[in-house]
Amino acid sequence: MKLYNTLSKKVDELQINDNHIKIYLCGITVYDESHIGHARTIIVFDVLHRYLLSKQLKVKFVQNFTDIDDKIIKKSKSLNIDYKEVSQKYIKQYLDAASRLNVLEEIHYPKATDNIKYMIEIIKSLIDKNYAYVTVHGIYFQVKKFSHYGKLSKKTSDSIEAGARIDVDPTKRDPLDFALWKFSSEPPFWKTPWGTGRPGWHIECSAMALKYLGNPIDIHGGGNDLIFPHHENEIAQSESFTGNEFAKIWMHSGMVNINSEKMSKSVGNIISIDHAIHKWGPNTIRILCLSAHYSKPLEYTLSNLVESQSKWRMIENCFYELQFPNPTNEEPFEALNFSQNVLASIHNDMENDFNTASALSVFMKFVSELNNYASKEHITINISNIVFPIFRKMLYIFGLKVLELSNEETFDVKNHIFQRNVFRKNKEFKKSDIIRVKLKEKYGIELIDHKNYRTIWKKVEKP
Ligand SMILES: [Zn+2]
Ligand SMILES: [Zn+2]
Repeated sequence: MKLYNTLSKKVDELQINDNHIKIYLCGITVYDESHIGHARTIIVFDVLHRYLLSKQLKVKFVQNFTDIDDKIIKKSKSLNIDYKEVSQKYIKQYLDAASRLNVLEEIHYPKATDNIKYMIEIIKSLIDKNYAYVTVHGIYFQVKKFSHYGKLSKKTSDSIEAGARIDVDPTKRDPLDFALWKFSSEPPFWKTPWGTGRPGWHIECSAMALKYLGNPIDIHGGGNDLIFPHHENEIAQSESFTGNEFAKIWMHSGMVNINSEKMSKSVGNIISIDHAIHKWGPNTIRILCLSAHYSKPLEYTLSNLVESQSKWRMIENCFYELQFPNPTNEEPFEALNFSQNVLASIHNDMENDFNTASALSVFMKFVSELNNYASKEHITINISNIVFPIFRKMLYIFGLKVLELSNEETFDVKNHIFQRNVFRKNKEFKKSDIIRVKLKEKYGIELIDHKNYRTIWKKVEKP
């Protein structure tokens, strides 16, 4: 698989051996509700995860929670509650959102506070090797000791220095140096040989990545706002600690713009995941997030959402047409090659720098053709037997999930449809219509009338 690598500025081949492919995704700092930017990142990496599994590869996927941070402490103080209450609340909210977005469950989610011991071990080694030093305020990483600093972000040390001067800590030897540990005697704090305090943000991720995945990691991911300084600092401290390469491939997802404007707290245009799901449903949000190349900005606009929703409606329709085929054994078109070619083309797009946008448009063309066949009564049992399993594979890769009825509900619906068709045959259209409306209200289904009173249904995701 070829992936564009932020680090080397070229397309790198993902090396696949017998072992697991190790992915570390920088997770969220749990002090506030997750927003649509986070949703995009998890959806992109979830599809990467799914795609690799669909190729029969083994994947180890780790995504951390930063559950100790100044922002969390600040929030807990303002609400007068323990910092753990804050972090637990937002971890739960995030995991709920991930589950509603149909993110695979095979992800390990370590928390920073469970790994402080290992952070202290790394810091100790960095001090011993002279990469870090202790002041009255904290323990700092000495950036100039690491000659590759800036290799990820391609920043020159002059431009970094200018930015770093804003954060003036007089005890730092150099404005570029960053904190591995911050001394504090106010809780929450942890003990170290150098004094009590809490870890800096960057060391948390290095520790969890190295502890749970070892080194090097195959793919290190995150939003592209993390490239500098977070990932640059992760590289510096991890590679100084291990002497090895930290990550082979860096993959960063682009930002989400809300109506062409950058999403930010100061503009006040933050869209929470819960809000987006409530308003549009998880599948529409997924389609939207996959419809741009992962590295490019994503436009969250009404027209893009409406378009994504109409794509989802087409997919639902196609799923149910395949579920309830025309009960004949004809094969009105050559289905196997047709479907396999589409699947191969989706794979091709994914292999080429994980181009979900192109893969999705190939899939939509397939869906549209199948819906066309369905309207001509050409989705027969034979066709469905060939196409449906391949169609399901595609749904799996994109992580799309069509709502279905239980057996009991299906039984009830079938009875009602039978009764409705009796009314239709007798031209009692008012009565037949009452049943249609009733089924829609009770089960959220829409009926599709085919020829010769063959009526099927589709369950439609709200809204
Ligand atoms: Zn991180
Ligand atoms: Zn990271």
